[in-house]
Parts: sequence; structure tokens; C-alpha cells
Amino acid sequence: MTHEEALGLFRDADALLDGHFLLSSGLHSAQYLEKFRLLERPSVFEPACDALVELLMSFDADFVLGPTTAGIILAYCVARRLGIEARYAEPATKGRALRRGQVLPAGSRVMIVDDILTTGLSLRECIEVVTSHGATVEGIGVLADRSGGTVEFGAPLRALLTLHIPVYRPDECPMCRAGIPLTQRGSRAHS
Ligand SMILES: [Zn+2]
Repeated sequence: MTHEEALGLFRDADALLDGHFLLSSGLHSAQYLEKFRLLERPSVFEPACDALVELLMSFDADFVLGPTTAGIILAYCVARRLGIEARYAEPATKGRALRRGQVLPAGSRVMIVDDILTTGLSLRECIEVVTSHGATVEGIGVLADRSGGTVEFGAPLRALLTLHIPVYRPDECPMCRAGIPLTQRGSRAHS
């Protein structure tokens, strides 16, 4: 899948929104990726997952690890296609952890997947989970990297779609200055 095809997929699903958005970080942006437009439509999500699996084929992994919430669905789909098992990194007192009796054997090779890469916090927490079990990170795959490829993990990163979406402090935001109404999005918003 080319960058244009991936972009078309996000656009067709209304997962890439244009406007003026208040992000969970408190910053503003002119574009917003709403992953749930993909996750709620198997007809869109499954082809995206297939295309991501193509990018992850070169990683030789025993397990696929994904962070809650959407990372669970993606990790499961990738694991099913690769014929390996999935593990899920859930929020813990500090960072993330495997819970509910999930095990990751020492020495196992793990690929980490997530939907949208913004700051990389969730993925870094997943890397911590892998290394804390004595396992190794073979690579990382995301449906969309909205950092424009600026986040470094010390492991190879593959993204179906790479976008650089500028963010602004409210006092420097050109959309605020233009008087465009602000929409609150993100997991901490109520919309
Ligand atoms: Zn603004």
C-alpha cells in the first residue's frame, strides 16, 4: 500500500479530520486522526491491518504486543495473520504491565504494534514491558505515525502512514487567531 493509498483509506473512513482540535496534551492542531473510525469498520480496518502485516514480515517475532485500548485489536489481528500469539500491555501503577496471567518468556522476540504514534509514550511503555521480561524488541509497527518520523525508539519502526501534523500552543495557534471554533478530541475528552 502506497502512502497515497493509506492516506485515501484514512480519508475515506473519515479518520483524518480537518479543523481546529484541542488535543489531550492541551495543544491545538489543524488535523486529527480519529482511530475509532477505522476500528469500528472491519471493511477498512482489515485491509489496513493486512497492509501493516506486509511491512512487519521482515521482523522475526514470537509474539505481538499491543497497548490497551486499540492496540489490543491490532495486536490480535496481526498475530492471527502471522500465526503467532498476542500479548496486551495494560496500564499499571508505573507504566504498563502484562496482567491476567499473561506470560512473555525470557529470550522471546517481540514485535510491538499500536494504532497512532503521537509522542511515543505508549510504545516506550511497551518496550519497558518487553525488556523487563528479558525479551527483545524486534521491531515496531503503527498504522499511522503523526510525528512525521521524529520519534526514536532504538528499534526499527514501520508505519503504514506517516504524517507530520503540526501542533500549537494556544497562545501561538493560527486557528485561534482566525477565530475558528475549537473541537475537543482525544481519550480525555468527552466528545
Ligand atoms: Zn487553537
